[in-house]
Formats: sequence, structure tokens, C-alpha cells
Amino acid sequence: MSTIFTKIINGEIPTDTVYKDDQVTAFRDINPQAPVHVLIVPNKEIPTVNDIRPEDEQLIGHMFTVAKNIAQQEGVAQNGYRLLINVNRDGGQEVFHLHMHLFGGCRLGPMLPRK
Ligand code: AMP
Repeated sequence: MSTIFTKIINGEIPTDTVYKDDQVTAFRDINPQAPVHVLIVPNKEIPTVNDIRPEDEQLIGHMFTVAKNIAQQEGVAQNGYRLLINVNRDGGQEVFHLHMHLFGGCRLGPMLPRK
């Protein structure tokens, strides 16, 4: 059930943490896909978006507040950035602990490759 992200949240694996509070931990992706690539992760173990419960709504909203504050800190808020959540196999999810990607620092192009 637990993933590597729980170890990161608990401080058992070193990471480049950019923000932490009692609900959320945000750290730089180990394999960045853009000049700014931060993962915003709820400290609570929620595997996927499919597992979000009504009582998690405040937490999910807080993830967005943290994301926009990090975008400001990282200097990408003005030019723009992308928030992305992958869900399960077709969505490309690799780590089954809910997380929001924040990409920025360059022109990110179309949302999906053009067909
Ligand atoms: P996803 O495909 O949405 O599940 O994304 C998982 C992300 O976690 C990938 O972008 C990985 O590069 C990232 N990742 C995996 N392990 C670590 C780690 N130890 N520290 C930081 N990022 C990680």
C-alpha cells in the first residue's frame, strides 16, 4: 500500500523539499521534465484520484493553494505553468500515492502530442 512517497514524507529518503506542512509535502521530481518540476503530495496515503473521498475535499483544495504558492516562489506564476495528475494505467501513473505535478519554466506546448 505504502509507496516511496510515504518514505519521502516521513523523511526516510532524502529529497529536495520545497514546501511541507501537516497536510502536504512538495519536492522536486527526481527526473524533471521541465526546468521547474515539483510534485505536490498529500501526506495522507490516497492511491489515486479514484480514491478521493468527500472528507478529502479540503485537502485537495489545499493542494491547489500550495501549488499556486510554489509557482509564485519558483518564478513561473506570471508566464504560466501546468498542473497535472495522472490516474492509473491509461493516465500513466507510476507511483500510487496521489500527487500533482507542477511543470514550468519553459513553453510546455500542447497538452497532449498532436495526432
Ligand atoms: P506519475 O507517473 O504521475 O506516477 O509520476 C511519478 C513521478 O515520481 C515521476 O515523475 C518520477 O520521476 C517521480 N519520482 C519517483 N521517485 C522519486 C523520488 N525518489 N524523488 C522524487 N521524484 C520521484
